[in-house]
Amino acid sequence: MPEKIRIDSVEIRLVRLQVRGSFRASYGQRATSNRILVMVRAGDIEGWGECVAMEHPYYWPETVSSAWSTLVDILAPDCIGKVISDPKEEMLFPRVRGNQMAKHALESAIWDAWCRTNSTPLYSYIGGTTREVRAGISLGLYKTAGELCDEINKRLQEGYKWFKIKIEPGKDLDYVRRVRDEFPRLPLSVDANGAYTRDQIDTLKHLEEFGLEMIEQPFAPTDLVNHRELAESLATPVCLDESVVDFESARSLIELHICDAINLKPGRVGGLRESLEIHRLCYSLGFPLWVGGMFETNIGRATSLALCTLPGITLPSDMSASTNYFERDVAYPNFEISDTGKLLLPEGPGTGVEIDKDYIKESTIKVQRLPD
Ligand SMILES: [Mg+2]
Repeated sequence: MPEKIRIDSVEIRLVRLQVRGSFRASYGQRATSNRILVMVRAGDIEGWGECVAMEHPYYWPETVSSAWSTLVDILAPDCIGKVISDPKEEMLFPRVRGNQMAKHALESAIWDAWCRTNSTPLYSYIGGTTREVRAGISLGLYKTAGELCDEINKRLQEGYKWFKIKIEPGKDLDYVRRVRDEFPRLPLSVDANGAYTRDQIDTLKHLEEFGLEMIEQPFAPTDLVNHRELAESLATPVCLDESVVDFESARSLIELHICDAINLKPGRVGGLRESLEIHRLCYSLGFPLWVGGMFETNIGRATSLALCTLPGITLPSDMSASTNYFERDVAYPNFEISDTGKLLLPEGPGTGVEIDKDYIKESTIKVQRLPD
């Protein structure tokens, strides 16, 4: 019988981290990153979660400021004193609409605390069967196609075997053609982050000739009609990311034949419990599902990597080594890519990572403790 936990207190913290290199997608560029970390205390045990909201709402409607308010004013006060017997069975915020990233941050901290209390690794608690995860890498928008090819070459040397490149109108067919000319058999996907509109659908149809693994989120998140038309007209799978906001949206998109694959991000669907529901559905249908990265620190990375260990996640994730992201991380060990192109989850309970409290303290901009 697993041990219950009682949530005694919650600490919500804003940290400023230095971003390594630069990563530009069609929704913006970043050099430092302000992140919210959530720590839940249950008896002597701490559980940590990360909010993957960014400062701007270009990828997703939530921002660091909006998620901060949601966590401090609504979600955390609601959780204090709650007793959790089995996190998989508990819907923590049944009345709260949206605010997925804020929910995920607190929920994952609670799951981590529960797993640590029960000396269970998160990945095995959710049904994962391996600690090894196939890595992939998502490359941002580059000034020229030549620079993009140089970056791919560099990453191939590092051990990556599966690539996703960002595209936007004007940086699409020429870029993909150049990459294909240089790397004819490279497993390659493109991700538009919703940058295309109806009048550019023919450009997207031309991507068919490049033998891509998938075309991710070409149109806006709510644009189902154009996604369906593109999915119907191409043999290349159309994958959705920003359109998948929870279990019900995933089910609708699958049943209405809007897409051919789903990129699962726990922060975008409101947490691990919702993620497991989506996984259960896709696994039962044999519908392609894989896990996407969100520029996380090692806390969020370890949480998402646990999902990658589930059976039925057959495609490599776009989760890459820790050193791609921050000059120094808030938790360790860093995830490193192996010779076979894999990342290895730590063995310990919960997410398995150790928190670097000194660095977190040093990087903190503000902190709110509840009850105060
Ligand atoms: Mg995406």
